[in-house]
Amino acid sequence: MEFVDRLLTCADCGGEFIFTAGEQLFFFDKQFKNDPKRCKPCKSKRAGVGVKAGAGPAAAGLSRTETRTECSACGIETTVPFKPTQGRPVLCRQCFQAKRAPSTGALVTAAGTVDMVAGKTGDPGSVGAELLAAAPQA
Ligand SMILES: [Zn+2]
Ligand SMILES: [Zn+2]
Repeated sequence: MEFVDRLLTCADCGGEFIFTAGEQLFFFDKQFKNDPKRCKPCKSKRAGVGVKAGAGPAAAGLSRTETRTECSACGIETTVPFKPTQGRPVLCRQCFQAKRAPSTGALVTAAGTVDMVAGKTGDPGSVGAELLAAAPQA
């Protein structure tokens, strides 16, 4: 189905405005039966001051993607800056730090272990890699 820009008359101010092909496609997608009745300035005036028409839900929603979850190790509630993968353990910052740099049993191999965890970015079973990749170093 093809759409072409159409000229409509605003019900509020009586001015003409363009119902663009893109907007028609949007209306068609949403299965809206009626044409828009008002021009954008009038529509945004009704929606409230400062609301930009066509800004989308992203502008009104959360700016950051923080996901609330429970730490798989200690069980405290924590937030992670990414969407946890289903079925994979999520660690809080503390447990993650403890896992990454074990404070106990500081053997000669400790440094090698850290390197191993850090380098395991391609391993699907490595939680540390996911956290390392997504978490900002605060
Ligand atoms: Zn108008
Ligand atoms: Zn924890």
